[in-house]
Order: sequence, then C-alpha cells, then structure tokens
Amino acid sequence: MAAKYSEFYSIMSAIKRCFSRSPNHREALNKAKCPRKKGPRGGARYVCVECKKDFASKDVQVDHIDPIVPIGTLSKDMTWDEVVGRTFCNISNLQILCKACHKEKSAEENADRRKIAKSIKSNPK
Ligand SMILES: [Zn+2]
Repeated sequence: MAAKYSEFYSIMSAIKRCFSRSPNHREALNKAKCPRKKGPRGGARYVCVECKKDFASKDVQVDHIDPIVPIGTLSKDMTWDEVVGRTFCNISNLQILCKACHKEKSAEENADRRKIAKSIKSNPK
C-alpha cells in the first residue's frame, strides 16, 4: 500500500470506526453481555474472555483473535482491500476483551512483530 506511516494509522482508525458500527461488532458485544447482571446505573455488563470479569460497554473492546495485520506481515505489504476484509471478518474471529487485556494482547503481538522485523533485518535475502 502506498500510504505513509501516519496516513496508514489515520485511515486504519477510520476503517475501525466504520467497523464499530457494523452488525458483527454489535453481535460480538451482544454475545458477551451478562444475561442478568446490570451495572450500578442499570447499564449492561460485558464479560472479558481473558480475565472473565465483567465491565461496562465503554470499558470493553471488540478484538480480532487473528489480528487485522497478521504477525509476520508488514502493514505496508497489505492492500486496503485486505485490511478492510480482515477488519470486517467473520464473527467467529471476534472476541470481547477489557481494555487492560486488549492492551496486553496488542503489546504481545507488537513484540512478536518487532522480533520478526529484526530477524528480517539481520537476515536479508
Ligand atoms: Zn480482561
């Protein structure tokens, strides 16, 4: 893809914003909703698949189990069609994580990406 690094992230966040309004996003959240439990102000609670605790909707995020940018792939090597296709994925690839668990998963993925990028750099073909 031809976009610069900063452009990539601004376009990516626009794609994610559209995804957050999609039926699959809503369905993933609905699946994680506690059937009986309500928050202090009567709001719905959602269970994080990782820590199993329940949170208000503002404190959970819909995570792509298989990440949008696959580990070992550089975002600059992906087409926008691929990015959009992988963002608007099948419901089976979506899970609900609280912000802390999502942050941890993303950090692990990014560490793996850095490791792979480093090994590519030190072993150029
Ligand atoms: Zn969690």
